[in-house]
Amino acid sequence: MNDAYDVVVVGAATAGSYFGKLMAEQGMNVLIVDRLTSETLGRRLDIFHLDKEVLPGFGVPEPRPGDEDYVSEFQNGITLSPEGNYPKTTDYPFIVLHMPLFIKRLNRWAESFGAEISCDTEFADFVYDGNGKIAGVSLKKDGMVHTVAAKLVVDASGIAAVARTKLKDGYGVENFQVADHEKFYVVLRYVKLKDPTKDRVTRPCGWPAYKTWIAPQHDPDGAIIGIGHAHSFAHAEKAYEEFTSSVTLPEHEVLYKEQGTTPYRRPPYSFVADGFLAIGDSACTTKSFSGEGVTSGWTLCKIAAETIAPMIASGAAATRRNMWRVNTEYMRGQGAKLAHIMGWLGSAVSCTMSEQEFMFKNDIVFSDKALTDTNRHFEAKMSVVEMLGWAVKMLGGVCSGQFRLLTVFGMLRSLSIAGRIKKHYERYPDSEEAFDGWRQEADVLWSRVHGVLREE
Ligand SMILES: Cc1cc2nc3c(=O)[nH]c(=O)nc-3n(C[C@H](O)[C@H](O)[C@H](O)COP(=O)(O)OP(=O)(O)OC[C@H]3O[C@@H](n4cnc5c(N)ncnc54)[C@H](O)[C@@H]3O)c2cc1C
Repeated sequence: MNDAYDVVVVGAATAGSYFGKLMAEQGMNVLIVDRLTSETLGRRLDIFHLDKEVLPGFGVPEPRPGDEDYVSEFQNGITLSPEGNYPKTTDYPFIVLHMPLFIKRLNRWAESFGAEISCDTEFADFVYDGNGKIAGVSLKKDGMVHTVAAKLVVDASGIAAVARTKLKDGYGVENFQVADHEKFYVVLRYVKLKDPTKDRVTRPCGWPAYKTWIAPQHDPDGAIIGIGHAHSFAHAEKAYEEFTSSVTLPEHEVLYKEQGTTPYRRPPYSFVADGFLAIGDSACTTKSFSGEGVTSGWTLCKIAAETIAPMIASGAAATRRNMWRVNTEYMRGQGAKLAHIMGWLGSAVSCTMSEQEFMFKNDIVFSDKALTDTNRHFEAKMSVVEMLGWAVKMLGGVCSGQFRLLTVFGMLRSLSIAGRIKKHYERYPDSEEAFDGWRQEADVLWSRVHGVLREE
């Protein structure tokens, strides 16, 4: 480890390694640190799903059969109503991978472009210059504290956001901790199927009413049964009991469980401050409809690397002002779409079970096209006529007593607020000067959103 780098990245998992590679590739002198050892890095999860179609756009080498991190892949998934009816097909391919081995692949990739990775090295604090601006980090390694100068410090430390949460108030990026009620508590059961010939799981099948799914894993005679729930792991387990008493799963034996949390809240309104950038789960860029965050996190990484590396190379300082384009590009694109979904999702999933059954039956929200579009484009590409079609069907449901008028109004209200949030994000200011006014209006809009996680 040297005394000075262009960029120090805190966290060497999917976001940190990817961003480090992009910066090193553009000639930046990059140090990536992780508090874990190289043996334990990424071990918090084993199996995960990576969107296949978007890999070429990120330039990430695609894992292939025979590679150590590769498990399998599937072309589509099924979504079922609360009573297990009206299957909808999401036509969107995923690769099933081992997370720790995939992170090793990304680490090697970053190193091949010249990034230095230091494991067993913990971020302790920022180092500031005489003007109170971030000028580096202090790191703990081998029982010693090392001070390292950096033009840019990047928080890629996951949901804990160890660096972002240490920023001083008003420094330029919000320093909130993701609160307990702003997390999804995900429990994964690795199971052995009793009759794999009959019940083999080759693609995922989800029940949004229970926030549960069953998906393939590395053992073809096994599966993963997952639940992602609000509030706590205890709530997730209680909801799982309700799920298993309502839905018949293939007979299985639970071998072991994995659990973790994923952020479910809006990202900070700015990702950049003087000498600082937040990416990955530390920036809450997970997909609001699924909690997956690897590729959605890379979108911000790519925008940031394309903006910041040429800027530093030209001799400009990594100030909030100079890096502002990172915010504008992200917020007006993926940020606006994910904010839109977060704006209306709460009302859709808090319908009663019988209302959801009605929605599945009538292709309202839960249709092949809407689910596929949401995965692929982060928005259901609906025409006005199609939207009106949903409204007419819902009103039909009200007349026949299958849908409450209250629910229709709730959904229309949520869709209207979500639409306003999207438009607001699409008008994200070009420069810092107009930011305060934009932020105040954004706060008002978010305060009107029906929370998925505040409920109960
Ligand atoms: C159960 C579960 C299943 C999931 N499945 C999927 C899936 O199938 N597909 C998908 O796309 N997403 C999935 N996600 C979400 C996904 O795991 C995250 O969005 C993504 O891994 C975040 O990557 P990251 O690099 O930002 O953070 P992390 O993967 O959390 O990595 C942060 C790194 O920072 C390091 N660190 C922390 N503190 C310090 C410190 N003080 N000093 C130095 N280093 C530090 C950590 O050791 C860690 O290595 C899942 C999440 C959960 C909980």
